[in-house]
Amino acid sequence: MFVPMRKILRDAEKNAYAVGYFEAFNMDALLACLDAAIETRSPIIIGFGGQFLSSPKRKEPENIYLYGALAKAAAEHSDIPVATLLNESDRIDMVYQGMKAGFGAVMYQKEPESEEDTLRITREVCKVAHYLNIDVESEVGRLPMQNIATGTADAGQNTDVAYAKKFVSETDIDALAVAIGNVHLLESSKADLDFDLLKSLHANVPVPLVLHGGTGISDEDIKKAIRLGITKMNVGTVLKRCYINALKPFYKEKEIDKIDTHVTIGWGGNDDMISAGRDAIRDKIHEFIEVFGSAGMAKHF
Ligand SMILES: [Zn+2]
Repeated sequence: MFVPMRKILRDAEKNAYAVGYFEAFNMDALLACLDAAIETRSPIIIGFGGQFLSSPKRKEPENIYLYGALAKAAAEHSDIPVATLLNESDRIDMVYQGMKAGFGAVMYQKEPESEEDTLRITREVCKVAHYLNIDVESEVGRLPMQNIATGTADAGQNTDVAYAKKFVSETDIDALAVAIGNVHLLESSKADLDFDLLKSLHANVPVPLVLHGGTGISDEDIKKAIRLGITKMNVGTVLKRCYINALKPFYKEKEIDKIDTHVTIGWGGNDDMISAGRDAIRDKIHEFIEVFGSAGMAKHF
């Protein structure tokens, strides 16, 4: 069932768990998220990354309406509570298109941008979104980024408590993503979280707190962060890694030119490589859901 994100976040806050936002990149990945949530009877947030969908490097521009419709239909045709999110869009037109496309929550995020502009634009986004019963997530501070493929690393900036408080009161956002040492794209090492900062944010900011960069945080630290006030966890990178790894045997162990095309793609059986990718994502999400403590929480809805 389609549920507003704020409703799931409220339940998470009340029952001391975190709901996972698992970022999909196509229909199979989206269905894998639901497979895991249904298996564990967990609420879930599904959706897509705005910056990925609108990347200028894409060969073809994506139609956001197809992605919104897919996420919405997947939520509506499921018997567990599902919220939908268009995550991290750096284009304001895409944020508004996302609302029209049926996403239940949006996140506008552009870097670099002046504080003044971010405040003004986020305030406008909130006005429109709330009129349409859509939730808004924002980030204050900036996550560092570490990409093992390119070997690049960007420094971040931890969330300032006073500014976060001011930002929330001046914009009316529904959830705040915080930077407390969590790292985007991090795979190879474990993020070093500043739990005192998290405590202080939780004490001073009146909206649910979100932790991006879920791939690079240890299970123990995730659990501790949830105890200290995190109610939403974002996971993306590792899901793509699982998908890629699941495809490896098909190229390594089989004579790829002689395999049965139908059985290998689109059949849905044991020899289907797309199914193997979907199962790998499902199993990884299943593990996260156990760590987040959201298994079984669907019964509250
Ligand atoms: Zn993120």
